[in-house]
Amino acid sequence: MTTPLRGLDLLREPLFNKGTAFTLEEREALGLQGLLPPCVHTLEQQVAQVIADFRQKSSDIERYLYLSGLEDRNETLFYRALSQHLEEMMPIVYTPTVGDACLSWSDVFRRPRGLYISLQDRGSIAALLRNWPHPVRVIVVTDGERILGLGDLGVGGMGISIGKLALYAACAGIHPRLCLPVMLDVGTQNQHHLQDPLYLGLRRPRLRGDEYDEFVAEFVSAVQEVMPKTLIQFEDFGNLNAFRLLDHWRQRVCTFNDDIQGTAAVTLAGLLSALRITNQTLAQQRILFLGAGEAGVGIGDLMVSAIADQGLPLEEARRHCWFVDTQGLIVQSRSGLADHKLRYAHDHPPCTTFLEAIERLKPTTLIGVSTMPGSFNQAVVERMSQLNERPILFALSNPTSKAECTAQDAYRWSRGKAIYSSGSPFPPCQFEGKKLVPGQGNNAYIFPGVGLGVTACEARHVSDKMFSEAARVLASCVTQDDLEVSRVYPALSQIRPVSELIAVAVARVAFEEGLAGIPQPSSLEDLVKSTIWKPEYS
Ligand code: NAD
Repeated sequence: MTTPLRGLDLLREPLFNKGTAFTLEEREALGLQGLLPPCVHTLEQQVAQVIADFRQKSSDIERYLYLSGLEDRNETLFYRALSQHLEEMMPIVYTPTVGDACLSWSDVFRRPRGLYISLQDRGSIAALLRNWPHPVRVIVVTDGERILGLGDLGVGGMGISIGKLALYAACAGIHPRLCLPVMLDVGTQNQHHLQDPLYLGLRRPRLRGDEYDEFVAEFVSAVQEVMPKTLIQFEDFGNLNAFRLLDHWRQRVCTFNDDIQGTAAVTLAGLLSALRITNQTLAQQRILFLGAGEAGVGIGDLMVSAIADQGLPLEEARRHCWFVDTQGLIVQSRSGLADHKLRYAHDHPPCTTFLEAIERLKPTTLIGVSTMPGSFNQAVVERMSQLNERPILFALSNPTSKAECTAQDAYRWSRGKAIYSSGSPFPPCQFEGKKLVPGQGNNAYIFPGVGLGVTACEARHVSDKMFSEAARVLASCVTQDDLEVSRVYPALSQIRPVSELIAVAVARVAFEEGLAGIPQPSSLEDLVKSTIWKPEYS
């Protein structure tokens, strides 16, 4: 990439700034002499300085702010450091620390990034999109209503869109210039924010109903007009809207909802790996979910289609998935169930508690997506361990403080037998001298690769098959060594090659399903590779 910028303007443009890595020749040619200290550093030296500085910070939120500042100064360096130290930095740029940043967005706000589109912009969203100076291929958009497990954070949700897009670039090599974070500000129900004089968002209750749908529709149409061929990822919308928006838009534009579909794929991959440890098939599973929201029902739907793929009728496959929500087991006799829960309302007597449901259903697998910390308690884990030689316990609620149980507790109470995975990372544990490594069911294993594949072949829609293929590819990357320590996902350090494999598989599905927007190339591998950006100075 070349730029007409020179001097201080160049140093202040994060996409082109190299800081101390500008060579003496470049400094002379670009009017930078005197604007930088005399020593020229390599990118590797700069990364070494960044990581030393990063580690010196005294809290995770300070580390988050430090990395945000770096991203605002020098994107190549930010992404190089992030890619090389992904295991250490991902929990900072994404869950759990990003949750703290979203909670205090208005207090820690420094430099704008992305687009804030509020109800005040109704009627002129297309014009507003034209203010964005770069071509765009991926948008992550949120309305801030259900941020991680933290609830309605209003305008603070922007941190999630920014964090997710950082992972598209770091994990799959989608050029950061092609990525646009968007916050749709439709108000908030968060009383703390509404009363906070420093709150940066609209100070009004959330817009609901037809007017809300019209606002989102104006946004989606404006993207089609101003930024065609852009993948729109819906992120952290509330239950009330997420399923409806996905159903409405998925066949109309290139879109997906990561909370529903990305979560489903990463969890299916984890379960497929766990079954290599238990030597069982999917069709032998009885899966009990705690929580029946976007994550739970999304996972359930993909599990059901994967079980049905093994030859079972859909209705029968559904009976392998059971859900407990705030009112107990979801069964036919319950009235007033939300639409997305109805297909899992089986004919069964009611159960009011989770433990009672475990007793009755004798599940092989528990999936926690309830935001209720401690709900996989000692009694639950011990009972699961009596029922199963190797109980599968996925405590997926984020951030860490919301996990249904910690890795340590799962291993302790199951006497090292649990096959455990969580949403936010937990460190490796020891049980009676054996090393056990909790898996992190991190959506970042899936969505960057899906996005890379979709954008590489200019897919018109994102299909379910793309997600089930992504899950299959991810599971195939788990090694025997991983399984030996009960780890159901590959090491995060492998995420770039894994994303590339997922992208190829996704593009293959796009061509098979007639969804690709370009002629089929002779090599999908080469197609994907040709679009990958590497954080290097040109
Ligand atoms: P959601 O708000 O859509 O759903 C939460 C569900 O939990 C609702 O059905 C609610 O009724 C239920 N619930 C709340 N309290 C409960 C209780 N005491 N007992 C039983 N059920 C209860 O949220 P979501 O999008 O489904 O996300 C849920 C959690 O999963 C969040 O913490 C989120 O961060 C996490 N998550 C993890 C991953 C991942 O690990 N990859 C991905 C997506 C979401």
